[in-house]
Amino acid sequence: MATMEQLANLINGQQVSAHSGKWLDNVEPATGAVYSQIPHSDQTDINAAVTAANNAFAEWSAMPVAKRSAHLQALADLLEENLEDFAHAESIDTGKPVSLARTVDIPRAVANLRFFAAAVAHTQSDAYFTDNHAINYTLRKPVGVAGCISPWNLPLYLFTWKIAPALAIGCTVVGKPSEITPMTAHKLGALTIDAGFPQGVLNIVHGSGATAGAALVEHPDVPAISFTGGTVTGQAIARTAGPMLKKLALELGGKNPFIVFEDANMPEALDHAIRAAFTNQGQICLCGSRIFVQRSRYDEFVAGMIERAQDFKPGDPLDHETRFGSLVSAEHKQKVCSYIQLAKDEGGTIECGGKEPDADALPPRVRGGCFLEPTIITGLNAQCRTNQEEIFGPVTTIMPFDHEEEVLQRANGTPYGLAAMLWTNDLDRAHRIAGQLDAGTVWVNCWLLRDLRVPFGGMKQSGLGREGGTEALHFFTEPKNICIRVRHN
Ligand code: NAD
Repeated sequence: MATMEQLANLINGQQVSAHSGKWLDNVEPATGAVYSQIPHSDQTDINAAVTAANNAFAEWSAMPVAKRSAHLQALADLLEENLEDFAHAESIDTGKPVSLARTVDIPRAVANLRFFAAAVAHTQSDAYFTDNHAINYTLRKPVGVAGCISPWNLPLYLFTWKIAPALAIGCTVVGKPSEITPMTAHKLGALTIDAGFPQGVLNIVHGSGATAGAALVEHPDVPAISFTGGTVTGQAIARTAGPMLKKLALELGGKNPFIVFEDANMPEALDHAIRAAFTNQGQICLCGSRIFVQRSRYDEFVAGMIERAQDFKPGDPLDHETRFGSLVSAEHKQKVCSYIQLAKDEGGTIECGGKEPDADALPPRVRGGCFLEPTIITGLNAQCRTNQEEIFGPVTTIMPFDHEEEVLQRANGTPYGLAAMLWTNDLDRAHRIAGQLDAGTVWVNCWLLRDLRVPFGGMKQSGLGREGGTEALHFFTEPKNICIRVRHN
């Protein structure tokens, strides 16, 4: 029997097991089989990683910017060279189609590293000439050891989205990837050794959120925590980090509206709505999971969505033709199924999907996997739980609306405020509505178009603070104002 691969922590430039010698199983969701194990790290491992990061901080933060950038670029080069290998690993680990991993996740992870490697060279510091008698300028120093905690849905993309700005600005890092999808972060850690990163600059500790994650948040020598994940976890982290007065960036859940006005370009709106609903099996925080369509075009839109959903046939994620893979775990699939049942109980009509694919619709290799058909539900009101709570799976509802004010109120009527999509050809309306939507990002006539320079984050229960561009670099610094009096004899 082949031996099971055992992943390693990266601490002080060494690949090591958990101090306790304990392991957690890592499952391939498309088959349901355990295929590797990760260190079940605890406080002892976190302490070792923080010590290593602290020891590396003085040299890394004092290093010329061009040299730090070069390290990040070297890592990006290696990741790009190994794109196929990483895409394969991400597909096995997450259940997402390998075609998505190789065209989106891994290239975007490379882009994150390159973007922050370049952006840090162009950071500016504010300076003010104060009424002719003083100059104020802001010195921004890296804050120290940054704790970066990432989720399972876009594991490498979101891990690099956090560590790249932290490292670029001069922080050292202890990263805690999701225990559900640890593989690509593990492989990235190995690449940092090949890229010649100084020891201790990037440390990666695997393990559960309750043990390794909590120990990182609680550690007194980690002054900044950048977290992406669920709202409930974010609230728990805030309860610990708040009283310790840590810097905190929280990127949390969403329940994003996708609003289609009657004047929209319908084929385009439909093509984007279907992608926004079902890409990565609906497991993207920015997915549009509540679709509002102006009544005159409602029936046509529902029919168009049902027709297009047929293109998202569940298949083996490792098959390059597959567009729709497995959910990330049996537990998560169970949660999504419970919401489909809830939607029925609340009086919804399942227009398509709503169940597992028939066994013979899947290739034999993946018949034990966590598959669900893309599901479209109508007939629900905006206030029911199905339309209020984050499902985070291949489930979208469609509702008709009549007026602007009505749709604005319903779109804004959830606790979340991460993203919103708006389809119209009326320029005035686009600006009018976009400005009033409760969302950190509003996409007008597009979805998931990203510019890494803009602030990214959520309103209300979707988060605290902003990542992206300068905001991300600034997050990892402690600004200090220096005021110099100008004497006039
Ligand atoms: P999660 O909150 O369960 O876990 C996220 C990470 O936090 C994991 O690494 C986990 O181990 C760790 N963790 C769990 N408990 C912890 C604790 N007490 N202390 C410290 N760390 C802890 O989230 P998930 O299920 O992995 O991801 C899905 C969620 O992430 C969804 O709600 C989704 O909307 C959200 N998300 C948000 C964004 C965004 O940019 N706003 C992006 C992607 C995903």
